[in-house]
Amino acid sequence: MCLICDRIEMIKKGENPYFVKELETGYVVIGDNQHFYGYTLFLYKNHENKTELFHLQSDEKMKFLEEMSIVAEAVSKSFGAEKMNYELLGMGDAHLHWHLYPRRSGDIENYGNNGKGPVWWYPMDKMYSDENRPTGNELEEMRRKLLSELDKLI
Ligand SMILES: [Zn+2]
Repeated sequence: MCLICDRIEMIKKGENPYFVKELETGYVVIGDNQHFYGYTLFLYKNHENKTELFHLQSDEKMKFLEEMSIVAEAVSKSFGAEKMNYELLGMGDAHLHWHLYPRRSGDIENYGNNGKGPVWWYPMDKMYSDENRPTGNELEEMRRKLLSELDKLI
């Protein structure tokens, strides 16, 4: 079973507290852990056997990329990024999903190349610590901010 398909089923049932907005090609959700404040995911709507960008028809692919870029812009404006990072990996779940990270100086402390580098140079146990999970009120505030920026851009 695919974790992302499970989360999408929760969205469809109205039971996913991280859900922000449905776009044409995917769903915008706030990340479970918020060490990188504003971390957001954009989940492609269909899994089936489409696990690479090049599996999508051209029009669909362009729309998915365009919407991802709009989500990234909204995340950047909502949460004050110095730089956005975009990742499409799929080694945990192959379901197409973007990780959108607002980055700020010092956010990986002195890990990586003297504090510079990708988010995955920050230790996994720190990145996914329960201490980084937003409270109900924090999550609601984040969802409201991001939805407001998305509605301005779409
Ligand atoms: Zn899936």
